[in-house]
Amino acid sequence: MPHWTVDVFDNGAVRLGTNTVCDGYARGYAFRVQSHLHDDHMAGFDKSKGEQDLFMSPETRQLLIAERNADLEYRDNLIPLERGLERELPDGSKLTLLPSGHMLGSCQVALGLPNGIRCGYSGDFAWPLDDVMQVDELVVDSTYGSPASIRRYTQNEAESCLLEVVCQALRRGSVHVKAHRGTIERVLQVVAGNVGVPVLASSRLIGEVDVYRSHGFGAEELVALDSDAGRAVLNERSYIRLYSKKDSFGNELKEGTSVICSAYMVGTDHPLLQFSERAYQVALTNHADFEGTLAYVEATGAKRVVTDNTRSHGIDLAIAINKYLPQVRAEPSSNSSVPS
Ligand SMILES: [Zn+2]
Ligand SMILES: [Zn+2]
Repeated sequence: MPHWTVDVFDNGAVRLGTNTVCDGYARGYAFRVQSHLHDDHMAGFDKSKGEQDLFMSPETRQLLIAERNADLEYRDNLIPLERGLERELPDGSKLTLLPSGHMLGSCQVALGLPNGIRCGYSGDFAWPLDDVMQVDELVVDSTYGSPASIRRYTQNEAESCLLEVVCQALRRGSVHVKAHRGTIERVLQVVAGNVGVPVLASSRLIGEVDVYRSHGFGAEELVALDSDAGRAVLNERSYIRLYSKKDSFGNELKEGTSVICSAYMVGTDHPLLQFSERAYQVALTNHADFEGTLAYVEATGAKRVVTDNTRSHGIDLAIAINKYLPQVRAEPSSNSSVPS
């Protein structure tokens, strides 16, 4: 891999060329691109904020401001870049962000280097996608990069399954649903108008849903846990409570049913795992599965692919790409130590 222009450092920062990193900090790199806001992509953000120019979609920037409401809004190095538009960076490279279908604001990152090489980072992505970036060298997310992560059901089926489980469980009491940011908003859309009970959430999550709403996301009103109305709902027999970032799920559910939304470790054939009468997992996910990941790599036209081996199944995925896409050469990221 020595002559490739892309790699991933041990801290998860994805290197595109010699001046740009994505989703991590590296000293000496003038630019950072933020593909989306999940925690495993936010490493070193405060350090980056002090030293680098940061590029992200306007939606990601808005979510960040809603979450941290600090000085971010007034910083001129937090640069919004509309997805689909090209922007020339001061070093002559050309940056384009494209939607990745993973959460509000999430993007694929394409960078045309001054030497003509087009490189890119997939970010976390769903499949299929309307618009796939065209690159020579690619760093691809490997979350579901293992051949064990094939899903023979659609996300529509996973959504129907979720609604069924929630409706049945509501007859017995409260329902507690946990999911990542982006997926939790999908849960809200699935249950909206179908359940007839109040939906409770933390103020943080309500602020996040407000940003989603401002981008055309239709969702019913949530009740804030720390409000009088919220406390009253907690005494009712039947309600839904949503849990996402920073919301503790607790060790014990005194009554009611828990539903975790994630495709992680769910089998191939059916989107539902039942742990007990009161505990379920539904494979609702905004991540491509193994086959979707291979299809994405092929669609980018990349000839050289680095699989991100800092966050997940990079080795399995590199082996699979070399096996199924013979025109592509794939290697797991080197995870070399980051300049700091
Ligand atoms: Zn993510
Ligand atoms: Zn991720």
